[in-house]
Amino acid sequence: MALKIGVIGTGAIGIEHIRRLNSKLVGSKVVAVTDINLEGAQRVADQYGDIVVHQNFQDVVSDPSVDALVVTSWGPAHEEQVLAAIKAGKPVFVEKPMATTAAGAKNIVDAEMAFGKKLVQVGFMRRYDAGYKMLKNVIDSGKIGQPLVLHCAHRNPTVPTAYVTSMAINDTAIHEIDCLHWLINDEWASAQVIMPRQTSHTHDKLKDPQILILTTQTGIRVVLEIFVNCQYGYDIQCEVVGETGIAKLPEPMSIQMRSEEKLSNTILNDWKVRFIDSYDVELQDWIDSTLKGEVNGPTAWDGYLACVTSDACVKAQESGAIEPITTVTRPNFYN
Ligand code: NAP
Repeated sequence: MALKIGVIGTGAIGIEHIRRLNSKLVGSKVVAVTDINLEGAQRVADQYGDIVVHQNFQDVVSDPSVDALVVTSWGPAHEEQVLAAIKAGKPVFVEKPMATTAAGAKNIVDAEMAFGKKLVQVGFMRRYDAGYKMLKNVIDSGKIGQPLVLHCAHRNPTVPTAYVTSMAINDTAIHEIDCLHWLINDEWASAQVIMPRQTSHTHDKLKDPQILILTTQTGIRVVLEIFVNCQYGYDIQCEVVGETGIAKLPEPMSIQMRSEEKLSNTILNDWKVRFIDSYDVELQDWIDSTLKGEVNGPTAWDGYLACVTSDACVKAQESGAIEPITTVTRPNFYN
């Protein structure tokens, strides 16, 4: 049986996910789409021939031929669209951010609990990345003892001019905010942001680079460099210092070259390529678990934790102080 999917948002990642769901993964079929830009949605539908284009997201949600939703619209629309899916009792995969504020994320958590069944999965695909999973296995095995310090970097070659300071947190570091506390089995306690000397490749609305220091409830310190105009490539680094050893995220596979008096490896420059396998594994898992009536990946609670942490980090950018990260108690529903 194929899961019949309605996609809300046919921009960059929406198009990628539709291609996956229709041509690469097993057990799914996109049957309906919409976008605020209907011409764009129609262009995507025309590529496949048998996808209905709806005028708005409400019509996708209420379409009886749609079993489940994929929300890939822009972030500010996610909360309303996920709430509509929950109201209709339909499983929903929502790209990050689940909502743009902690209050919005809490609305989703409350609505899902009131419905009485988990329906929401958030697109934190790094938890599905083979490298991060290997790193987590090493940490969980105890081979390097308790984790103490993490040295991490999230570097993009460039970003569009509309990208501003807060987006270094809620668009970029949000992946580390979700993935790193999962990696080290801990919860965030506080955040601080330090602005070092600025690159000449930035503009006056974007502080770049930034150093985000996150501390967990057990005192593990994460130092994350966010540098979104680094010029040289898309580069994700994560090194975990434990009591008895160090474990490092593997580099993406690449051929080592000896040529023209140089020893070299290629550095990727596109996030789509860096995590291409993770998106496939993530969505296949979502299809398989949805067909079983379960949520196996990051939940609405994870989406809420990420929003609370992200809000604290943005506050820390503005205040320069160490800001506490305070959440409501985890409900049993999410245990
Ligand atoms: P994008 O190319 O701008 O696509 C967003 C699309 O949603 C656009 O076509 C936009 O139309 C449309 N849209 C805006 N409001 C809408 C609404 N109310 N109803 C339906 N469609 C609406 O952006 P993107 O890169 O695909 O990103 C989409 C989401 O995925 C973002 O939340 C982003 O953070 C997330 N994302 C996640 C990852 C990841 O690694 N997990 C990677 C990339 C993106 P207009 O262009 O006309 O505004």
